[in-house]
Amino acid sequence: MTDHSSSAANNVGDNAAAGRIAIIGAGIAGLACARALTDAGLPVTLFDKARGPGGRMSSRRRPDAIIDLGAQAFSARDPAFIAELDAWRRAGCAERWPTHAYRASNAGWQRLSDDRERFTGAPRMSAITRHLAQTLAARGTALHAGTRVSALERHADGWQIRTDAGAAFGPYTEVVVAVPPPQAEPLVQPWDNTLDALCQRLEQRACWAGWAIFAAPLPVPDGVTESWQQAHLQHPALRLVSRNQTKPGREHQPESLSLLAHTEWSEAHLEDDAEHVAMTLISALKALFPASQPLPELVDHGAHRWLYAQPAEPLAAMPDAGFALGHAGLSLCGDGLRGGRVEEAWLSGHRLGQTLAGCA
Ligand SMILES: Cc1cc2nc3c(=O)[nH]c(=O)nc-3n(C[C@H](O)[C@H](O)[C@H](O)COP(=O)(O)OP(=O)(O)OC[C@H]3O[C@@H](n4cnc5c(N)ncnc54)[C@H](O)[C@@H]3O)c2cc1C
Repeated sequence: MTDHSSSAANNVGDNAAAGRIAIIGAGIAGLACARALTDAGLPVTLFDKARGPGGRMSSRRRPDAIIDLGAQAFSARDPAFIAELDAWRRAGCAERWPTHAYRASNAGWQRLSDDRERFTGAPRMSAITRHLAQTLAARGTALHAGTRVSALERHADGWQIRTDAGAAFGPYTEVVVAVPPPQAEPLVQPWDNTLDALCQRLEQRACWAGWAIFAAPLPVPDGVTESWQQAHLQHPALRLVSRNQTKPGREHQPESLSLLAHTEWSEAHLEDDAEHVAMTLISALKALFPASQPLPELVDHGAHRWLYAQPAEPLAAMPDAGFALGHAGLSLCGDGLRGGRVEEAWLSGHRLGQTLAGCA
């Protein structure tokens, strides 16, 4: 069997013919796994259905601004992740943010503060996953972007990957499935009953993520600093407002907001039209300000539906490592197996990569 690497679009590097480990999903978990494997000198090939790496750490480019549509900020607790974050900061793709956060309702705004530092990608969240993909490309790791894996096949010489465009890649000795469990389930179901049952058990919840770009800055509520960066809301629909122009490297942008909806509201409005969702979230934003402080002119808006935004609940039943090893070289990682945060997703992929490389 051959590895038809030339059939994929937007490849980053292209040594797929030599690849013996395939990773499906180039979100932070798949990239961390690839990094741990290549650190040990093992050849890896990555596949992602999206146009580039990043998954839920992706950012959307609009004519006037770049908007983070998934993760907004993250913290670091584990020593291995703290060391990785330090490397990202030295490379200039991550910085501290936010430092001015509030809890907000139409009854008032209170400053939120705890001792935990938070970070974001610079100049956008996806800068971190781009940096990781570029580092891997420099080591000769191919990323087949725009390539949705539709099936896995087990042959005498190893695993073969089938894409929905009809291409075939392989053979591989190991396949890491680094996608949310509901998306991993159809891939592992024919081959591994235990991994299949695990995927069926690990539910992911949905989230609508809206954006709104304004011609002028938002009004400033009483007692709130003009440079406020994030507001957590007590509103049935809108959960979080992030001001993208306050993020490091995006100071030139106009008022450009990420508007994240609550899980329950998102799931009750899963089939709503994106325009309707965006306008509902913008109305909720408007209600935060008194009638005497109207919102400025809206120049761009929209909404993206994340069907598999975050794991349903903490995974008490999972081993500490937060990944799953199956039969015959098939394994799973990602936030669904460890916890719905950037750090947990990175740790899941990193620890699986180290285990497969025999250096855990
Ligand atoms: C709206 C939102 C807000 C969030 N806020 C925060 C936050 O503030 N702080 C925080 O720490 N975390 C936050 N998170 C969670 C965090 O983003 C995730 O935990 C983390 O990014 C998950 O990474 P992952 O690699 O496990 O999965 P993903 O990022 O989902 O990566 C999986 C990849 O697999 C690809 N894929 C799927 N199926 C296939 C297939 N069949 N073939 C090929 N490719 C496939 C996808 O395109 C994707 O790129 C947020 C998430 C969302 C959605």
